[in-house]
Amino acid sequence: MELPKLLLHIGLILATVTNFCIADDDAKGPKYIYRLPIISKPVDYNISLIIPDLEKSNTFHGETIVTVDIVRETFHISLHSQGLEINETATTLTNNTIVYTPEAYTYNHGTNILSLHFENQLYRGNYTLNMKFAGNFSQIDSGSGGFIKIPYTYEEGNTKYYRTLAATHLMPNKARRMFPCWDEPAIKTYFMISVMHHQNYTVLSNWPIRKQYKVKNDMIWTHFNRTFAMSAYLVGIVIVSNFVRIEKEVQFLSPGVSVWCRSSLTSQASFIHNIAEQITPLLEEYTNRTKGLPKIDHVMVPNYPVDGMEDWGIIIYKESEVVYDDSKDPIFQKRKVASLVAHELAHQWFGNFITPSWWPDLWLSKGFAVFFQVYFLNKTFEDWRSMDFFVTGAIHDTLHLDIGLLDSVNLNLHDTLDYDQLFGDEVYKKAPAILRMLYHAVGDEVFRKGIIKYFATKQYTAFTPDNLWSAIQSAKDEASYVPYMRDQKFRIKEVMDTWIVQNRYPVLNVTKR
Ligand SMILES: [Zn+2]
Repeated sequence: MELPKLLLHIGLILATVTNFCIADDDAKGPKYIYRLPIISKPVDYNISLIIPDLEKSNTFHGETIVTVDIVRETFHISLHSQGLEINETATTLTNNTIVYTPEAYTYNHGTNILSLHFENQLYRGNYTLNMKFAGNFSQIDSGSGGFIKIPYTYEEGNTKYYRTLAATHLMPNKARRMFPCWDEPAIKTYFMISVMHHQNYTVLSNWPIRKQYKVKNDMIWTHFNRTFAMSAYLVGIVIVSNFVRIEKEVQFLSPGVSVWCRSSLTSQASFIHNIAEQITPLLEEYTNRTKGLPKIDHVMVPNYPVDGMEDWGIIIYKESEVVYDDSKDPIFQKRKVASLVAHELAHQWFGNFITPSWWPDLWLSKGFAVFFQVYFLNKTFEDWRSMDFFVTGAIHDTLHLDIGLLDSVNLNLHDTLDYDQLFGDEVYKKAPAILRMLYHAVGDEVFRKGIIKYFATKQYTAFTPDNLWSAIQSAKDEASYVPYMRDQKFRIKEVMDTWIVQNRYPVLNVTKR
């Protein structure tokens, strides 16, 4: 961080003097998670980032050009920003030929909400909001997420080189540390990402490269294709040098699959490819989404802060979690790698195409990713008996913990975002166990038909558990010609709510007469 902490905290006072506004840089994130007012929402983002020499500088510069839909007449636009230095004099809001400039900015340190105040009333319609800003890379040991600088080494012959890469980890609410945005999962929009970087680096992002050209001083502009509509936390960028790409021509896969790693790990990275080749088509087929993603990169980043992050079209792993050497590693490692890769792939559909509308419902994304990770590995490696292992490993454990230690699956976050709660056993163990129970209650066919309906109505949008229950209910109703289903009179929502909205598992008292 180049600016002293004190300066960051007095940023708003400074703003009146220098025309820069520096949003709070409390690494722990916002204390409160009040939702943004539903007055304006982004329609698409054009984000350009200029990446300096990563070995020397901690600051990147950026510009966002956002089409904003003003849905209610207003004098204000509110969005998220954290630790960014906004160049106030450069901000413009354009509607046809009329250019508005904010007359004041306010910032709430508790919520990270930055509000732009305009002198003239903004009427309903589409506007173009242009903002220029600078941001600081997060340091790997700060644990704060964002756009993170990570030192690493690579070897050529007998020489070891020290390098730095940059990789995003924006889940759950750190996109705001990288660019000013509407950083809520339900707000899904298209992203056009462009990155200027030194020619010695390779840049990867969610979608394939649209065009690339050199500019002065050995710098390159890389422009990526427009993504599907997605949440801001799924933006993924990796900037790295001296990585190799492992690519295989696999005809039947619609998204191209590439694995990126340090050259010394090429042979230990190919297992990711094997898993991706087998699991990806199963997910496409299961969800009836065969015209899916244009590509999925799997990037192995040394010391990445979490085991895996499912950014759409670019999965980023902690390198140590996905290396597998067939000649010397134990089978345990093979299963661990396969589980993680299958999990992140499942998120490309469950979590990315369809996204929980707000954090208490996060269990639906994580629960599905774990359930389908197990479900597809069970089909692919039959002798591993993954589903049996899930019953003894996760379900039994959850039943034991659930007599007093677990919260409800539908998280009681109130107005704070507690990461322990967000990524706890309720979400990773109890949620997939409940989905497995539902799967067995309605049967394989009804469950899958429900999922297809759910995708057909909710893809590219956000959903609540009720949307899922009604999709499966409708598949169940349609299957009433099946004798087994005709006898099942229960309503999905009634049953499932007893499992998700209260802590502990429901207890049925039976009296014998
Ligand atoms: Zn996950």
